[in-house]
Amino acid sequence: MLYIGCHLSSSNGFQAMGKQALSIGANTFQFFTRNPRGSKAKEIDPQDAAALVTLLKEHHFAPIIAHAPYTLNPASADTKTREFAWLTMQDDLRRMEYVPGNLYNFHPGSHVGQGTQTGIALIQRMLNKILTPQQHTTVLLETMAGKGSEIGRTFDELATILDGVQLTDKMGVCLDTCHIHDAGYSITKLDDVLTEFDKKIGLSRLKAVHLNDSLNSLGSHKDRHAVIGGGQIGTDLLSAVINHPALKQLPFCLETPNDLDGYAREIKLLRSLYRD
Ligand code: FE
Ligand code: FE
Ligand code: ZN
Repeated sequence: MLYIGCHLSSSNGFQAMGKQALSIGANTFQFFTRNPRGSKAKEIDPQDAAALVTLLKEHHFAPIIAHAPYTLNPASADTKTREFAWLTMQDDLRRMEYVPGNLYNFHPGSHVGQGTQTGIALIQRMLNKILTPQQHTTVLLETMAGKGSEIGRTFDELATILDGVQLTDKMGVCLDTCHIHDAGYSITKLDDVLTEFDKKIGLSRLKAVHLNDSLNSLGSHKDRHAVIGGGQIGTDLLSAVINHPALKQLPFCLETPNDLDGYAREIKLLRSLYRD
């Protein structure tokens, strides 16, 4: 069974996202926990959240993915920015308990000239402060393209972050196909890439895949998503990703530049390419 969905707007609440996902043939989805640029989140309506939990169970959804705002930077040199990241993630994880058992994905951060080591230490410090043994959400580090001083452009960096987190069973990784391509991992050699992932991080830590084509070339460190088949990765390699034995049970989430109809078409296309 292929678990596939796309990024949806959360502005109409939880249950509305579940219904929208169903309407486009999705059985997972992603949403921003609040405005992607940050700001205050609407308080959760427990009834609305419970309705989504029921819908997800009834329709056998894979785990859904909450995405932290892009402005979150726990590796910042600025105390206020780091504090914002801590408070935001803490609040998001508290709110995620209304839909327990799902995933919370974030961009590890940018070290902004302090160096990777310092950046990594700051990310670990936040996670060790915020994660709790009681939480029912798995927190995912996203593989990054390596724009600017972004941390998480190599599997080594992600492995190093994870090594320093105490509640390690609350952590996982989300692999973004556009980002790894832009970071220099060639999907033409998918087996090798996954072998390296397994050696350094462990495939058991891989909890979700962002399925995107990339406008730019291998190793460009740009991070510009393209529609499936509209970029430099191409439909054949993305089909190989959803069909890879090590990946095919994971939730795949499209973050391609599309409206809802475009997402419905891509989901249909990928379902036609999936071998059960
Ligand atoms: Fe992301
Ligand atoms: Fe992504
Ligand atoms: Zn991206």
